[in-house]
Amino acid sequence: MSDADTELEARLEEQDSFEPPESFVEQANVSNPDIYEEFEENWPECWEAAADMLDWETEYDQTFDGSNPPFFEWFTGGELNASANCLDRHLDERGDEVAIEWVGEPTDEANRTYTYEDLHREVNEAAAALREMGVGEDDVVTMYMPMIPELPIAMLACARIGAPHSVVFAGFSADALATRMNAADSEYLITCDGYYRRGDPLDHLEKANEGLDNVEHDTETVVVERLPEDDAFDHDLRDDQRLWVDAVHAHKGAEVEPVARDAEDMLFLMYTSGTTGEPKGVKHTTGGYLSWAAWTSHAVLDIKPEDTYFCSADIGWITGHSYIVYGPLALGTTTMMYEGTPDHPERDRLWEIVEEYEATQLYTAPTAIRAFMKWGSEFPDQHDLSSLRLLGTVGEPINPRAWKWYYKHIGNEECPVVDTWWQTETGGMMVTTLPGVKEMKPGSAGPALPGIDAEIVDTTGEQVEPGRAGYLTIQKPWPGMLRTLYQNDERFVDEYWREYSDTDSDDWRDWTYFPEDGAKIDEDGYITVLGRVDDVINVSGHRLGTMEIESAIVGVEGVAEAAVVGGDHEMKGEAVYAYVITEDGYDGDEELRDAIIQGVEDGIGPIARPEQVIFTPELPKTRSGKIMRRLLEDIANGAELGDTSTLRNPDVVASIQEQVQK
Ligand code: ATP
Ligand code: MG
Repeated sequence: MSDADTELEARLEEQDSFEPPESFVEQANVSNPDIYEEFEENWPECWEAAADMLDWETEYDQTFDGSNPPFFEWFTGGELNASANCLDRHLDERGDEVAIEWVGEPTDEANRTYTYEDLHREVNEAAAALREMGVGEDDVVTMYMPMIPELPIAMLACARIGAPHSVVFAGFSADALATRMNAADSEYLITCDGYYRRGDPLDHLEKANEGLDNVEHDTETVVVERLPEDDAFDHDLRDDQRLWVDAVHAHKGAEVEPVARDAEDMLFLMYTSGTTGEPKGVKHTTGGYLSWAAWTSHAVLDIKPEDTYFCSADIGWITGHSYIVYGPLALGTTTMMYEGTPDHPERDRLWEIVEEYEATQLYTAPTAIRAFMKWGSEFPDQHDLSSLRLLGTVGEPINPRAWKWYYKHIGNEECPVVDTWWQTETGGMMVTTLPGVKEMKPGSAGPALPGIDAEIVDTTGEQVEPGRAGYLTIQKPWPGMLRTLYQNDERFVDEYWREYSDTDSDDWRDWTYFPEDGAKIDEDGYITVLGRVDDVINVSGHRLGTMEIESAIVGVEGVAEAAVVGGDHEMKGEAVYAYVITEDGYDGDEELRDAIIQGVEDGIGPIARPEQVIFTPELPKTRSGKIMRRLLEDIANGAELGDTSTLRNPDVVASIQEQVQK
């Protein structure tokens, strides 16, 4: 590093707030600082701003209906179609502009570009094919597909005919597919033959078939052929299965009138990843959800039609639903889809894509950012990333060091970074800075969005002092919220409302949404999400948030990533176990171990001092990239390990176990 670089690093390290760059503010979709006050004073009518982002076939007559809490409704009486909003209405002005830019994993494979005209045509043909199969309004269609263009095409085709989709992440197991198809009574499946992962073709249909064997009712399957002949696996289609080409291409040139859906009609169902307990079938609606996805894409991601917007999530997660498909397409922009992983064939693959397509926004996850940081800045440095205007992160807390690395090495200190807190259940972003208005504080997601009423409370529901840890709650409903858990209203109430609501009350004001995350707030109303409420370690009666300890550890030079869990301890009740991945070029030696312990003592206090620091090349992660803490706890306790098959990297478990036993 040159002296200038070192100086810069030192300055960044000190700095704890960042103003949005002037050049960004000047062109931002939202730059009016009064928006917070205006929305507060004008609630719920303020949310007409979100509804206004859409074209309605029938105007709604009520903005918000709180008469039957917690079954809230938005834009009641209104009718619209999501596919018409994402496609048809853009045709006149933007028919020739690119809607989806798809990049496959193999670098020698041609990308696929869909203009709005193209996408409209393909969606219409697919909608006609689904109709012919017998898919009717409100029939749930399951999709078990990786990042191939037929996935959003199928989703929009469903939306066109009013059939809710339920997308199951392609990395999930056969069992997960069967559970979800059974739970949703879904009789239709769209899947594919296989796809590529780090250069190798994977057999996907075999897994899909295995899942179908455990579905309790009759099904029909459409199979997209993703792999070329020579890579295709040897499958005989079953009687109730046919190829996408045969099903869809029989409808060349077909036009399907978009079905007018009630604002409150289900647009899709999404089962949460199941990091904790049984998957929950989160129900999202046509009017509220779509307006929420569109408004937040506009206000937070600053999406404009001319942009080339890149979200590196998988469409199998809510992030991909809201911020690869529905939000960006509703705004008529170009949305990128990348099939592969960021490290294949090389660790600069994302940067290569950003450079080649001149991406204007990048929305990714802290786990990816920590990996980039571990790999080193030489990878992004090889590319011209100056097309980027805004960066975003979602999925878990991001520690200040990773935030600053992202800000500096990807954004060149010229792009605001939005750290967006939200959930499958919220439909879209809830807590984050408006990038054209608010200063950013690394490590803190930011204030609640305008019109969103977030409070940090204690177990009795009283607001806690700034700086103190408590529970995040949302005091007022919002359009994008889930309406229920599919066919399980009771669990919906138990899971999200019972904790902080007066459940006997008919007044919506007595109802409070509980996302089950811990958080703290500062004097300026900035919220730091500390993680799930169960991610707390009780050391000698002191409740310590794992996130805070992790943040202290990751702040130590040489540490790329850390996960902290509680292990049983005779004296203390629980003790802190820290699993640590080092940055490339650093060893997990005594020196680093001491620095980590020192870092925790300085940052939080001696009470949080780790009992053991375990260096590991990888952490066990779920398919959505979240650290599987329960498993790490079992390892710390020397307990029997449960099912590890839902892990992305089950192999790491044994090697970690060995170290802990030493
Ligand atoms: P499940 O609910 O099935 O256990 P999950 O909660 O991991 O799965 P998601 O809905 O995808 O499934 O994730 C939402 C959760 O992710 C939030 O409740 C929060 O714990 C965490 N999260 C998301 N974004 C952020 C963020 N910016 N900062 C901190 N935490 C975040
Ligand atoms: Mg959750």
